[in-house]
Amino acid sequence: MTTEANQDSTICPEILKNDHETRESKVTCCSVCKPGSTLKNKTGGWRNFRPIYNYEKCTKCGICEIVCPDMSVKPREDGFFEYDYDYCKGCGICANECPEDAIGMILEEK
Ligand code: SF4
Ligand code: SF4
Repeated sequence: MTTEANQDSTICPEILKNDHETRESKVTCCSVCKPGSTLKNKTGGWRNFRPIYNYEKCTKCGICEIVCPDMSVKPREDGFFEYDYDYCKGCGICANECPEDAIGMILEEK
């Protein structure tokens, strides 16, 4: 019988490791993952710099949400935005593209 975990492992052994499966697999590379599996990996741990908002400068234009490659910028009910630090990799694109210079990048404390 083919389970969802087995299907994942044939495509991406790394996912099998993350799911704590016991079946042995030799991981030599991981180039293709099953579509829709990215939420299994909290990539925010890769981050060296953390974006922070200055809400006094923000005009709620939404550009930071559009340009984030990791969909880590989330709208708030008040029209401002916030970060999902579980997935933000700290690339700084949002800070570079903000027309109001309302996003700063600070060194991540680990
Ligand atoms: S890009 Fe800058 S001004 Fe626009 S919503 Fe984001 S933080 Fe605010
Ligand atoms: S630093 Fe990069 S990954 Fe994080 S919110 Fe900004 S654009 Fe997205």
